[in-house]
Amino acid sequence: MQNEAPAAQIKVPQVTVLDAGGQYCHLIARKIRDLGVFAEVRPSETAASDLAGRKGLIISGGPNSVYDTGSPTVDPAIFRTNQPVLGICYGQQLMAHLLGGVVQKGDNGEYGPATLELNGGPDTPLFAGIRDHQQIWMNHRDLVVELPPGFSNIGATGTCAVAAMAAPSRRLYSVQFHPEVVHTTEGKRILANFVFDICGCVKDWDPRHRVPLVEDQIRRTAGNRNVFFFVSGGVDSTVAFTLCLRALGAERVRGIYVDTGLMREGETEFVNRLFDALGAGTVTIESAADQFLTPLRAVCDPEQKRRIIGEEFVRLQERIIESRHLMDGHWILGQGTIYPDTIESGGTEKAAIIKTHHNRVAGIQQLIAAQRIIEPLSDFYKDEVREIGRELGIAEDVLERHPFPGPGLAIRCLCAEHDEPVRSTPDGFLIPVRSVGVQGDERSYKAVLALDRFPAIEARLEDEATALVNRTRGVNRVVARVAGHAPLAGMRSSSSVLSVERLNRLRRADSIVRRISHESGFDKTVWQFPVVLIPVGAGERPDSVVLRPVHSVDGMTAQSVGMGEQLLRRMAAELMQLDCVCAVFYDVTHKPPGTIEWE
Ligand code: GLN
Repeated sequence: MQNEAPAAQIKVPQVTVLDAGGQYCHLIARKIRDLGVFAEVRPSETAASDLAGRKGLIISGGPNSVYDTGSPTVDPAIFRTNQPVLGICYGQQLMAHLLGGVVQKGDNGEYGPATLELNGGPDTPLFAGIRDHQQIWMNHRDLVVELPPGFSNIGATGTCAVAAMAAPSRRLYSVQFHPEVVHTTEGKRILANFVFDICGCVKDWDPRHRVPLVEDQIRRTAGNRNVFFFVSGGVDSTVAFTLCLRALGAERVRGIYVDTGLMREGETEFVNRLFDALGAGTVTIESAADQFLTPLRAVCDPEQKRRIIGEEFVRLQERIIESRHLMDGHWILGQGTIYPDTIESGGTEKAAIIKTHHNRVAGIQQLIAAQRIIEPLSDFYKDEVREIGRELGIAEDVLERHPFPGPGLAIRCLCAEHDEPVRSTPDGFLIPVRSVGVQGDERSYKAVLALDRFPAIEARLEDEATALVNRTRGVNRVVARVAGHAPLAGMRSSSSVLSVERLNRLRRADSIVRRISHESGFDKTVWQFPVVLIPVGAGERPDSVVLRPVHSVDGMTAQSVGMGEQLLRRMAAELMQLDCVCAVFYDVTHKPPGTIEWE
C-alpha cells in the first residue's frame, strides 16, 4: 500500500516528494497530507515531464554524499519549470551541487538539536511568521560551502553556515535541517508556508476517511482467505488485529500470542486479560521460549539477533498452520508492521538499513512477495495508529502503552565476545560495548561514552552529549553515571551471552523501573522508557543497567528526557541492590545520533 493514495481518493497529487533515500522521506508526504494537501512519493529521478501539473516538489534527505558515484539525483529540468522546489538535507546538497554551488564533507557532523538563526529574516516567504533562534533537528555531515549563483543564504547554525538558502524569484528553496520531524519546533509552519504560500496549494485531503479505506483494503488483500495473526499485546498488533476482525469478521481471524521467553514480567498475564476484554475469544497463547532462546544464546550482533527472531516467528507460523490444519493457501499472515519498521529496515529503494525489524526478515519478505501477508498499518506512524485505535474504541490504557519492540528483551540485553577495560579519554570514559545509531540517514554501530556526572543535577548534559557525539567519530551515544559499586575506571566488559540468568536480571530491573515510574506518574510523561542491561561491571557484579527515557511522537526522532533527582536516586538505589548489577547509567543521547533502543 506504500505511498499510494487509497482508491477512493485517487487524484493528482499537488505535491510530489522526490525520494533520495531518506529515513524521513515518507514522513514529509505524511506531514503535507496532515496539512490537508494530498502529496505522494516518487523516485528522485522521475522525469520533469512526469511531474508537470504538480504545484510543488520536495527533494528528500538521503544517506549518500552528492559526490558518491551513483548517488541519487533529480532531473535538472525540474529547476527550470518555475514549479517551486524545496530541497531538504541531501535535497539541499543536491540542489547546490546541480545548480553550481559547492558541497563538502564537514569536519563535524551535526546530529540532533541545533539553533537556527535567520539571515533573511521573516522577509523570506519560507520563514514567514517564524522567530529567530529556533530549535531545529539536524542529521548530516556534508555541508553546502558555496551557494549556487543567484541564491542567498537565509539561515545558519553554529556549525552549519548554510542551514537554508533561497532563490525566491526562481521559487527555489532549501534547508539543511528537517522541517518534517516534530523536534523542529516550527517545522509544520515552514512546510505550510511552502505548500500554501509559495506553491499555492489548496486543501483537498482529509485523514479521517482512513478507517473505512483501510478496512476495504484488508478485504481486497484477503480475498477469500483468512488471516492468522501474531499479537503481542502492543498497540500496533492490537489495532491491526482489531481492524481485521472488523473487516473480515471473527470467524476469519485467528490470533496467537507467543511467549518467546523475551517478554517483560507480567506480560503474558496482561495479554490474557487484554484479549479477554476485547471479547475476541480467538487468541491463544503459545509457549516457545526454548525455540527462541537456544539459537540466540551466543549471539552478540544485533542484526543477527533480529534475523533469528524473525525467522523463528516464520517457522512457528508454519508449524502452527500445519498442526492446526489451517489449510495452506487459505491462510495468510497478518502483522502490525508500521511505517518506521519498513523504512528502518531499508524498505525503500535508496534507504540505508538502520535495523532489520523482525517483521522484515527474509522469510517474511518471501511471504510478502507471494502476497501472503496483510499489514493494514504499514503506511502509518505510531501516533496515527493510536488515533485509529481510538476511532475503533480500543481502551485508552492499551493505546497509551509504551512501544515495546517485537524482539523483546533480546535487543535490550547486550552481550560481549571479549573482556575489555573501560578506557579513560579526555572527554570521558569509553565503554567497550557498541550500540546502534542513525547518523546522516545511515546506520552507525559505535562505542558509548560515559560521563562521571549525575544527570539530574547537570541539566545541560544533553547539550554536551550532542556536542561530544558531533565531534567524536567513534561514538554515537553518551551516558551519565547515576550510581556505582565501582569507579568507572575500574569497570570492564566481560564476555557474556544471552542467558536465562541475564534475561531474568534485566526482567527484574525493568520491573523495578516500571513500578517506580508508574507509582510516581513519570511513565505518563515519557513516550518510551527502555531499560537496558550491558555486560560492563567489576568483580562479582559483571552487568550494569542503563535507563533510556525519551520523548517522541512517531519514533522517527526522539529527545532524551531528564528525571527529578529524588526519583532517580530512589530508582538507582533499588537497582543497585540487584545481584550482579554494578552501576546504573542514564542515556542522555537524542535520536539522531542514537536510536531509541540499544540493540
Ligand atoms: N548523507 C548526507 C549527509 O550526511 C545527507 C544526510 C541527510 O539527508 N539526512 O550530510
